[in-house]
Amino acid sequence: MIKAVRGTRDILPPDSALFELVEERAREVFHLYNFQEIRTPIFEDTQLFSRSVGEETDIVGKEMFTWEDKARAQSEKAQSLTLRPENTAGVVRAYIEHKLGDKGQLQKLYYIGPQFRRERPQKGRYRQFYQIGAEVIGPPSAGSESPARDAEVIEMLAALLDRVGIKGSTLQLNSVGCANDRAKYNEALRAALKPVVGQMCVDCQRRAETNPLRVLDCKVPEDQPIIAKLPKISDYLDEPCREHFAEVKKILDAVGVKYEVNERMVRGLDYYTRTTFEFTHGGLGAQSALLGGGRYDGLSEALGGPKAPGIGFALGLDRFVIALQSETQSAQTPSVKAFIAPLGDGMNAAAAKLARELRAQGVALDLGDESFRLKKSFEAAERAGAQFVIIVGENEVKADAFAVKDIKSGEQRTVARAELVQALKANP
Ligand code: AMP
Repeated sequence: MIKAVRGTRDILPPDSALFELVEERAREVFHLYNFQEIRTPIFEDTQLFSRSVGEETDIVGKEMFTWEDKARAQSEKAQSLTLRPENTAGVVRAYIEHKLGDKGQLQKLYYIGPQFRRERPQKGRYRQFYQIGAEVIGPPSAGSESPARDAEVIEMLAALLDRVGIKGSTLQLNSVGCANDRAKYNEALRAALKPVVGQMCVDCQRRAETNPLRVLDCKVPEDQPIIAKLPKISDYLDEPCREHFAEVKKILDAVGVKYEVNERMVRGLDYYTRTTFEFTHGGLGAQSALLGGGRYDGLSEALGGPKAPGIGFALGLDRFVIALQSETQSAQTPSVKAFIAPLGDGMNAAAAKLARELRAQGVALDLGDESFRLKKSFEAAERAGAQFVIIVGENEVKADAFAVKDIKSGEQRTVARAELVQALKANP
């Protein structure tokens, strides 16, 4: 038997209704904040990720699904392609490619879709998972660097969590500074690591040389006491970065969004600058991050584009659903208004005609089959959550009026075709 591949899964009803619910609420919130949708390809040139997410990150170093696409002509080189492990790089590539910054306006873009990482599968961690994310990006003249944008994005997320109905999450906030601060901090980390790195895992030994910041992502338990004693980024922020962070916090205080400052949270992607944040939730177990994001002021330039500071986030849709389930919320299973029961041989066509008319007028219906006895149609109607059964037999078709039975009360009446929609809608 062929099964779904390790780390992938089928999302079946009724769970799929929770996915749908979160997606719908997210779209509503995005529209309230003037975001518009962008859809980028599921695979991209591998370099897009190595140049943005960073060579030394777990994502690029260990987790990407990459393959060589055969050259089409002899003169062409094979191209290395990768299933997107995240979507910010794709959005920024699209921003550069389509010159979205040329009109001088801020771009507010959101996306919903699958991402792929070769991680060890466990609860809340999959190799194909779903993210909903958004980016605010534009030329500095459009205000893209303003701490007001950071605070607005974070406040929007608090609103989204409320609207979806997830309670009990915690917001962790940090600033990882700008490129200058990072260079000084990396030097300080290098120096602090020198005497102790010999006792650390091989990944940390390499990272201490190549990209010391990434040592902070290490998950090896034995390394944690060493990591806890390393210098803190907050001591290396320059004055503008300090002020920027203070202003983000001031606005969050003013709008009443609660946060904890976590100076160890550097997030596992190289492109972040200044504000970084994560919302965590107790119902998720080991994979406690519901969503994460941050500012990426140098990303566009690193990808060969114009100066275009930005801030964004991605939330794990799979984890939102787990959090909702842990709070024992279930989405209402969608149900239909009525079930059309063709009764007797040759009635399928007339039933299909009636169903088409009613659906076109916005009535959600399910449709049976002429081979069903009435009892079987009633059972199917109940399973579909229908309020009424509409019987389409030979007499009904002749009279152009149909027997409509209310499943709960058992009451039955005859309704002319022209009055059907009104009769069904009159009963909420
Ligand atoms: P990141 O792109 O790593 O910042 O992740 C953003 C969010 O995506 C995380 O907070 C998770 O909620 C979710 N996420 C990341 N990796 C996975 C995964 N392998 N499986 C499920 N959700 C994930």
